[in-house]
Amino acid sequence: MNVNETLQWLTGGTHARIDLDAYVRNIERLRKIISPGTALMAVVKADAYGHGAVACAGAAIDAGVAMLGVARLAEGVALRRAGIRADILVLGPTSVVDAPVAVEHNIAVAIGTESMASRLGDALSSSNGRLRVHLKVDTGMRRYGVLPEEALHVTESIDRDPALILEGVFTHFSCADEHDGTQTQLQIARFERVIEDLRANETLPPWIHLANSAGVLSGRSGDGNLVRCGIATYGLSPSVDVPAPDSFEPVMSIHSRVGRRFTLSAGEGVSYGLTYRGQENEQVATVPVGYADGLSRDLSNAGWFSARDRRLPIRGRICMDQTIVGEADGLAEGDELTVFGPGPEDMTLDQAASLTGTINYELATRITARVPRIYYRGGRPAAWDHTLLGERGHVV
Ligand SMILES: *Cc1c(COP(=O)(O)O)cnc(C)c1O
Repeated sequence: MNVNETLQWLTGGTHARIDLDAYVRNIERLRKIISPGTALMAVVKADAYGHGAVACAGAAIDAGVAMLGVARLAEGVALRRAGIRADILVLGPTSVVDAPVAVEHNIAVAIGTESMASRLGDALSSSNGRLRVHLKVDTGMRRYGVLPEEALHVTESIDRDPALILEGVFTHFSCADEHDGTQTQLQIARFERVIEDLRANETLPPWIHLANSAGVLSGRSGDGNLVRCGIATYGLSPSVDVPAPDSFEPVMSIHSRVGRRFTLSAGEGVSYGLTYRGQENEQVATVPVGYADGLSRDLSNAGWFSARDRRLPIRGRICMDQTIVGEADGLAEGDELTVFGPGPEDMTLDQAASLTGTINYELATRITARVPRIYYRGGRPAAWDHTLLGERGHVV
């Protein structure tokens, strides 16, 4: 198949559209919000929140971000294998067996316990490898990180270890997405004291970072020189309390096509369990998207798709691979429809999240590997990534 045939095939079924121009514009919007001396880390963990890490990382680097953030070392290795050469930091916990792999791929890791600092150093002592590390300080998230009172001591032991290079110190907010900023201010104050201690002791590393998207958007980001943004770069809001400004554009939308259209008679049930009963002559249609694509089954009889600026309510239970929608009058097999999108009649990720009691983060990351991602630039398909087939390509 040539490129056009491949794209036609991939967009002929359920697929994700990723607007890389919107992603870059969101990064620029964030840049305008943070102070001029502050750098931006694009957080591309979890396959860039379901958007595709390689394509987003490439676009973010072209947009001039200082660093990429991932959660696991393997995510960083995947970016290196795809040819990404920018600075990468693994934000989550690292284990001793990660150390040589991180050195080999020149990926920085977070150190969050004192014993990990010494064990990572020991793991590298027989090689010449040097591991770049950022010290994670737990100022109130209670998940990972050394306590503020331990930080000075741990930076000293990292400094003494020839296998470790201390490049950063950071913390993470537990409640930055809430209206009430008390906890965030407390964490900022605790972190500032750590920074003062390290500065006085001359063990302060070059990178100092606190804020995630919510910290930046709420104006409670502390006094670092780097911020770590994920959700806002994808044009999504951290929470209802801390929305992204209206100018931010959702980067991902999910599309599919009408399958079979048929008519229900009055009282006739549809899909597993027959949980929806039809009206007389109700027009319904199948859509080849299901919970195995990442469409939460909790949207059964609750969510909707859209076509031609009309809502098509989900009728009955969402199946693994198919969903049935109502109000299908006038639709024909093969017509395009939107599963998730930003348009006025589309179901947004935020709406789906509120219908199912979760957050947009979870719904975006749930889009599975069998949904091909089509990357748009200048309003046209520019590249694609089909994780299930292990194939990606560019439109030249
Ligand atoms: C995921 C993550 C971020 C990004 O958070 P957003 O809310 O998506 O901006 C920042 N820092 C750490 C440590 C993270 O794990």
